[in-house]
Amino acid sequence: MHSKTVIVGGGVVGCQACHELARHGSEVLLIDPSPVATMRPALPDLAGGWVPEWIVQRPLADMLPSQTVLVPAAVSRIDLDHQVVVANGDSFPYQQLLIAAGSIPNFHGMTFPPETMHPLNTLTDALTIRATFNTYLQETPHPHILVAGTGYTGLELAMSLSFRARAAGRTCAVTIVDPAPELLPSLPDQQRQYVLDFLMAQGVDLRLGVAIDAFDGQRAQVGGQTIEAPFACWAAGTHFAVPDIAGTVEREPDGRLHVAADLSLPHYPAVFVAGDSAAITRRGRVLRKAVNFAHYGGRHAARNMRRQQRGKPTRPFRPVDLGWIVPLHDTSIGWLAPGIWIHGRLGVRLHHLMCGLRNYSFSRLLGCLRLALNPNQGPSL
Ligand SMILES: Cc1cc2nc3c(=O)[nH]c(=O)nc-3n(C[C@H](O)[C@H](O)[C@H](O)COP(=O)(O)OP(=O)(O)OC[C@H]3O[C@@H](n4cnc5c(N)ncnc54)[C@H](O)[C@@H]3O)c2cc1C
Repeated sequence: MHSKTVIVGGGVVGCQACHELARHGSEVLLIDPSPVATMRPALPDLAGGWVPEWIVQRPLADMLPSQTVLVPAAVSRIDLDHQVVVANGDSFPYQQLLIAAGSIPNFHGMTFPPETMHPLNTLTDALTIRATFNTYLQETPHPHILVAGTGYTGLELAMSLSFRARAAGRTCAVTIVDPAPELLPSLPDQQRQYVLDFLMAQGVDLRLGVAIDAFDGQRAQVGGQTIEAPFACWAAGTHFAVPDIAGTVEREPDGRLHVAADLSLPHYPAVFVAGDSAAITRRGRVLRKAVNFAHYGGRHAARNMRRQQRGKPTRPFRPVDLGWIVPLHDTSIGWLAPGIWIHGRLGVRLHHLMCGLRNYSFSRLLGCLRLALNPNQGPSL
């Protein structure tokens, strides 16, 4: 199959890019194994049963422009030197390529019995946790949530499930572990203490400098201690989503591809990378993985692809950091440009607002606005 422009991944970046390219009549081949676009920041809320499923996802087929051909497959290899993408054994040659496959959970080589360790990256992951945790709460005499990873996903998920257990009238222990010696190391001391105080007030057993050493589906070994029959969740890091990239590329330890200022790949000017797949350096630091950078990055990459098609020079991507929020169900920690720290319910409301503004339809925006006005009242499990 021949296509001039191929996009790998139909998430935040891919959808933005498809719409931007379609505005100018470009035909695009979009390859993604998932039939839906997913608002990932709302996944911890969905896993805990606090937001309805319809707000978090929309079928790609409903939202893609008519010029886009969707191939439902996972890309296993990108050969940059031969300008070909491989998915499900089929080869897709390209003239221009946008790599937008995001990132997937990194288990760091550990294996667990099937369906006993719960990652949180896709809609299916969140729905599985929602259903499984409900059964777990009903069937387990001493429920115990065990989360690996103290990044935003781990903390949000732990609190979402902990408050769900409480709403179900169950007393549930919560242990969060991380081999890193410090919680949220990029935060100033005062802000970190705010999060620590909140977690302690919720009775969380936070173990830093400690990893899950083993989990057989029944018992977890954590820093020399055994936890019996935990509900185990994995949020201990992510890595690049496409298994094999052939070519001359520079990468971060998590596999993200270093890009030039215009988001193209050095040595491969017709290949662009944006969102979680890209290592975008700004003021000497690689940008964090975030919806806003993906949203504007996807649009910018597509505009540069258009400029290239017309023989015009590409432009550098200059993202503005509007800030970030980590909602912890009942409170939050966040930072808004130009330098305002956010705490409490305000951050939870702003989180829902952000999910609405970046969502996939007007009705979903309205749904998120309702959640922002009245958080944590969502459907039960
Ligand atoms: C649980 C969770 C909570 C988050 N919370 C926040 C938050 O509060 N605020 C914030 O700013 N950001 C948050 N993020 C990060 C944010 O979701 C990402 O930065 C953003 O979605 C990146 O957009 P993307 O288009 O690069 O990747 P995605 O939106 O992840 O899209 C990637 C797409 O590529 C597809 N894909 C994967 N592998 C392949 C393959 N091999 N071949 C083809 N297609 C493939 C996937 O199916 C997906 O559709 C969160 C992420 C997670 C997982």
